[in-house]
Amino acid sequence: MENIFNYTKTELENYLVNKGYKKFLASQIFDWLYDKKEYNFDNFSNIKKETIQFLKDNFTTDFIEMTKVEEDTDVKKFLFTLKDGQKIESVLMYHNYGLSVCVSSQVGCNMGCKFCESGRLKKVRDLETYEMLEQVIAIGNYVNKKIDSVVIMGIGEPFDNYDNVIKFINLINDPKVLEIGARHITISTCGLVPKIKDFADLGLQVNLALSLHAPTDEKRKQIMNIAKAYSLKEVFEALKYYQDKTKRRVTIEYIMLDKINDSKEDAVTLAKLIKDYNVYVNLIPYNETKNIEFKASSQKQIDIFYNTLKSLGVDVTVRHKFGNKISAACGQLRSKEI
Ligand code: SAH
Repeated sequence: MENIFNYTKTELENYLVNKGYKKFLASQIFDWLYDKKEYNFDNFSNIKKETIQFLKDNFTTDFIEMTKVEEDTDVKKFLFTLKDGQKIESVLMYHNYGLSVCVSSQVGCNMGCKFCESGRLKKVRDLETYEMLEQVIAIGNYVNKKIDSVVIMGIGEPFDNYDNVIKFINLINDPKVLEIGARHITISTCGLVPKIKDFADLGLQVNLALSLHAPTDEKRKQIMNIAKAYSLKEVFEALKYYQDKTKRRVTIEYIMLDKINDSKEDAVTLAKLIKDYNVYVNLIPYNETKNIEFKASSQKQIDIFYNTLKSLGVDVTVRHKFGNKISAACGQLRSKEI
């Protein structure tokens, strides 16, 4: 039995045609699932009884279970339990431009970034496409609102689960599914160079964010294992390749870690590193977690860093911090639970 939310429209059409059904059946099914939000095959009233039986024999519409919700004014955090008992988390953020969901792409993560709660816990497995899609659908249904944008910045490294993530992007982007515009979808990677190039070749208009977090190889290696696999030179060559193909601006994510990467000198080095690229820098205030010794940079240090970049002509913003009252740090809800 396969979960029907794993199928793109084309895949479902092919499947059905192969079994002797009309291609149009896939459109009817998509209409029930995504437009009418009807998940019980028995209620698909315009479909013949025998066909419904066929669907029931071959597919489920099972949802991942929403186990816990933590609510704040501008943010909600969700803990989901998967069919095999694994836990993942997602975040709903209320921006002035609409509702945004941050989804997990893996159970745990193997990238081993030293400051990250999910990296500490290691990857258990990749998420299937339906497990990503259902995070967005379940949250949309929970608040009974349309989700305007999706960021793939939750637990996991999306480019380490490449095929399932690309299918997920295609699904949420499909006007017959969630109709989230490509420019409202962001994928964040710690910098898997070959996958950045593969992604560039797809030519999607999806936003790409790169977790840079340090302006030199030496510093980056101290906090991110991926820096031992790919040098900054290789990462920026891949970015260039991506930008030549897509003409898209890339977001550089930079976590502000006290006395690690937040000096004025670091800002100057960073400005030099990125000067020939069409990027903007998003400074991320660090969410401290009790299991990891890194500390967040002070507001004063963030201001100095920000102003230094600005004065050097860098386009820079500081990320808004959501929900201080709840386990807002990436991966904390899950890690508390296990
Ligand atoms: N693996 C991908 C996506 C998931 S992490 C990536 O590395 O981009 C999403 C972002 O959250 C990354 O920039 C990551 O470095 C950052 N992050 C991880 N732990 C954090 C914390 N405790 N506080 C703030 N940002 C954190």
